[in-house]
Amino acid sequence: MMRYICPVCFKIAEIGEEKCSNCGYDFKNISDDDYSEKLIKAINHPDYNVAYMAAKIIGELKIKKAEKVLIEHLRNNGGKKDPYIEQIIVWALGEIGEEESHRFLLENKDKFSVLTKNIIENSLEKIKTRVANKEGESIGK
Ligand SMILES: [Zn+2]
Repeated sequence: MMRYICPVCFKIAEIGEEKCSNCGYDFKNISDDDYSEKLIKAINHPDYNVAYMAAKIIGELKIKKAEKVLIEHLRNNGGKKDPYIEQIIVWALGEIGEEESHRFLLENKDKFSVLTKNIIENSLEKIKTRVANKEGESIGK
């Protein structure tokens, strides 16, 4: 079951809700592309919960074009260091990332909190497997 962030007011919906309980926006009007763009913007939302949920949904929906914004956010820590945001973004990169994410996480892993480091190892593994599979496919073609 999909969980939404309202693209109009950024309220985080409960699982299963079809309309925003704050502004009434009907989630069936979300086209995939628009919604991806909103989620990518929400990574830099000042409300911690919105940023966290956006990163989580990006990972769950595997929105690959979010890769650069996620890396940028980790690079700048969104202006402040927050280990929970850090961890969910590192997790999301594990779900969607490719070479660029792998390089970034490998080069910077000592800059993150101890808890994040374990997730980095996990994400590096997932990215490596995915990139290897992709190369396998293109060789097979
Ligand atoms: Zn709303």
